[in-house]
Amino acid sequence: MCFTERMADPSRVPALSAAGASALFQLLRDGQPRTRAELAALTGMARSTIASRVDSLMGLGLVSPVGDAQSTGGRPSSQFALNPSAKSVLAADLGASHATLAVTDLGGTTLAEFSGPIDIADGPDSVLTWMIDKGQQLLEGIGRDASDLIAVGIGLPGPVEHASGRPINPPIMPGWDRFDVPAFVQRRLAVPVLVDNDVNISALGELNSAFPTVDHLIFVKVATGIGSGVISGRRLQRGAQGIAGDIGHVQIARGAGVPCHCGNTGCLEAVASGPAIAARLRASGLDVADGQGVIDLVKAGNVEAIQAVRQAGRDIGEVLTACVSLMNPSVIAIGGSMAQAGEHLIAGVREVVYTRSMPLATEHLSIVQSRAGGNAAVIGASMLAIHHALSPESIDAMTV
Ligand SMILES: [Zn+2]
Repeated sequence: MCFTERMADPSRVPALSAAGASALFQLLRDGQPRTRAELAALTGMARSTIASRVDSLMGLGLVSPVGDAQSTGGRPSSQFALNPSAKSVLAADLGASHATLAVTDLGGTTLAEFSGPIDIADGPDSVLTWMIDKGQQLLEGIGRDASDLIAVGIGLPGPVEHASGRPINPPIMPGWDRFDVPAFVQRRLAVPVLVDNDVNISALGELNSAFPTVDHLIFVKVATGIGSGVISGRRLQRGAQGIAGDIGHVQIARGAGVPCHCGNTGCLEAVASGPAIAARLRASGLDVADGQGVIDLVKAGNVEAIQAVRQAGRDIGEVLTACVSLMNPSVIAIGGSMAQAGEHLIAGVREVVYTRSMPLATEHLSIVQSRAGGNAAVIGASMLAIHHALSPESIDAMTV
């Protein structure tokens, strides 16, 4: 897949007024080949300036000539476009018990990937060393090495202060609190390292891979916990402290009196997460250990499990109705392991959101199962790294 078109990032507003090479490069990032004359017309820069900027970008390998085009005078004139294979990105989705790594090119196309079990509770030294070793093996497998990397993107299963790349009080990650993830990784991979929580990067991955023309999207992860990643105006909204979209601890009507691990009662997560649904089914006599057990029962057609999942969907819909009023998204994508329960969960969400929202807010609202599925987070980690590496600031720094 190629994600060069309309990638979501706050830094990706083409800096047409800037005189640096980045202004040209931001235009060429969409992958569409353009001639020097077209670039001059689009930017208002003199032809001589364009020629020198294109030369400097070609010197970095980030732009390359593409075929030939007939100019208006009938004379062949070279076109230029992003050269996605100029550099590589290492992307990692590090979950509580499972990790997916990928090496991608600058267009987001996966060149190599690996997926396997980890235990995030082993701590940052062990997990990040494993990630770097595996990443280097992936690079070697495609005939590249660490010098080919331009950035690393990492998703973690807990709150992250994005600016510093440090996890903040992550509940299931002993030893990770305020650990300087970028500094540790940079000891061996001397490139920018971008870190965010797994739900935020999943939202980026979902948007770029499945909804490239959508501007307002909410990605909801329903698994052991419940959280969301919010994209508004094609920008990922992290909020003041990086916890925007943390909907799992919003109180819902049906949760009255149900204790939550956060210390409150009545939270959405305490009622509608995988473990919460399993606990309810166990209380009614079914033998089910966890969220996966619930999914297995649903797939086997167990009516009680199907009803419980549909009710969880309604509970999630209750909170999402408020989100719809606030954000007016055009897509809500439901992902996470419990989304494998399929249409039963989504049907519950739709039932409540479509019934309780204002008609105008839902006129063009799609509520769908995540299309990027299990790859949403690793795709998003790659996007995070690419956006940073190819931002106007980064390109200007390279072409000074
Ligand atoms: Zn809670």
